[in-house]
Amino acid sequence: MTTALITHPACLEHDTGPFHPECADRLRAVLRALEAQEFVPLLREAAPLATEEQLSRVHPVSHVRSVLALAPAAGEHLALDADTVVSAGSGEAALRAAGGAVAAVDAVMEGWARAAFAAVRPPGHHAEPARPMGFCLFNNAAVAALHARARWGKQRVAVVDFDVHHGNGTQAMFAADRDLFYGSSHQHPCYPGTGMSGERGVAGNIVNAPLSPGANGAAFRAAWSERILPALDAFAPDFLIVSAGFDAHKADPLAQLRLETGDFAWITDELVALADRHTDGRIVSLLEGGYDLDALAMSAAAHVRTLMRH
Ligand SMILES: [Zn+2]
Repeated sequence: MTTALITHPACLEHDTGPFHPECADRLRAVLRALEAQEFVPLLREAAPLATEEQLSRVHPVSHVRSVLALAPAAGEHLALDADTVVSAGSGEAALRAAGGAVAAVDAVMEGWARAAFAAVRPPGHHAEPARPMGFCLFNNAAVAALHARARWGKQRVAVVDFDVHHGNGTQAMFAADRDLFYGSSHQHPCYPGTGMSGERGVAGNIVNAPLSPGANGAAFRAAWSERILPALDAFAPDFLIVSAGFDAHKADPLAQLRLETGDFAWITDELVALADRHTDGRIVSLLEGGYDLDALAMSAAAHVRTLMRH
């Protein structure tokens, strides 16, 4: 199917300093993999800057402005917490990352693509309404979800998240709204520590499937097949957004799940089939984590290849 690839060079200018796992080389690795011949049909689009109006559906305006005002001098780094670092280029990168998520929604709603993958950084799913955390500044998936609602009238929006970490920020924003669904598989115990099965949201609209360290692809597939996908089918979304993190791969240094590249193709296939049932095949995917450069590149390529083949 026609698939859009949305990215921007400014996302490479968010400099987290030496030895930080969430580095620009991650995005370079993904984009290099997507230069292969088989990806020529991707419709490539530059990520626009998110507007204050788009961000403020999720984050208080005062918070948006304070994050953008941080701007350290060139070559300097400012740590917001133990994990989250900003540099001179972070503000634009964060605006392009959220703007890329918005553009992905517009691409599939305008109809020039059926699927859209935003290859952007910083990632977003740990960002809470008024707190950057866990490498994340703005919550790209939540901004996309509320844009789908505000601009395109998609009331029931689902975000599903197969990053190895729980998307505490997305859950925090969705839990009280029965028309928003958040489903996540993630390692537990692991950062950030949220995402227990008992966290269900106001109407069962939060579905968490924690997996033990060492869990493999079979356990991952069972969690999705038996828990998250049935709940998502029952929710019957008008619009589907994927927080696509690839750090559950067995080679990833930040966690201990043992997924292989084929597992990311499998979950993508399942989500595309679900989109066919509920959202006229429209599906938006946003890059979250993934910290082994080779595993990230191969897994993201498998994900995009599956979106395209559909
Ligand atoms: Zn992660």
